[in-house]
Amino acid sequence: MERNELSAPTEKELKENAQNTRKKAAAKVQTLHPIVIRSRQIAKSWWGKSWCDNLERYADFDTRLPRGRRYVRTGAVTDLQMKKGKILSRVQGTRKTPYKVEIRISPLSEQRIEQIMEKCGTRVETLDKLVNGDFPKELKDVFLENGGLFPEPRGISFSCSCPDWAVMCKHVAATLYGVGARLDEEPLLFFSLRGIDTNRFVDVVISNRIEAMLQNADKPSKRILQDTQIESLFGV
Ligand SMILES: [Zn+2]
Repeated sequence: MERNELSAPTEKELKENAQNTRKKAAAKVQTLHPIVIRSRQIAKSWWGKSWCDNLERYADFDTRLPRGRRYVRTGAVTDLQMKKGKILSRVQGTRKTPYKVEIRISPLSEQRIEQIMEKCGTRVETLDKLVNGDFPKELKDVFLENGGLFPEPRGISFSCSCPDWAVMCKHVAATLYGVGARLDEEPLLFFSLRGIDTNRFVDVVISNRIEAMLQNADKPSKRILQDTQIESLFGV
């Protein structure tokens, strides 16, 4: 019997469709990256805390910040993604579908990126420490100074799909606090957010370290570094 488009799907087709739907659903669940606050503090590391403190610089919006903290603590930020120059999130509000928040951060100049990399590269103790996301406190000014990794108020803009949108709403505030919590876990996101390629950053740290070792070597013959020495130096 000939099948036309209106005929019932075959068993094979049904199976395939169901499989595709399951795959799509699984992919969706995996890509959601919610903010879960497990302790009283939103952020524990000094850089996460500094980020949260720094938010007060953006606020003529004092009333929104406490609401944002309450929202993020209740798990309202159901998804938060950070990429170059952009933070995207979904925040659960009063209606069923979460609101869409977008925060844009203007990129750092290439010159500024190089200055920051150089500063970090000479101060970070070992590469191992860095990739594990342990920033020494001496790097604090790299984050906080003008033109540092934390965006200045004029370099950041917000938008939200909620109806009571007024420059900063509680959903934006919750997202900003969510960023503080996320940075606790993945501090290198600071760099990607500001447009610094982390691989390039790691390369700069390595070459600075090697440079320092070569300078310390007192004889020309010692200027050849063995792989094992490099490995032990960086703890890789
Ligand atoms: Zn909103």
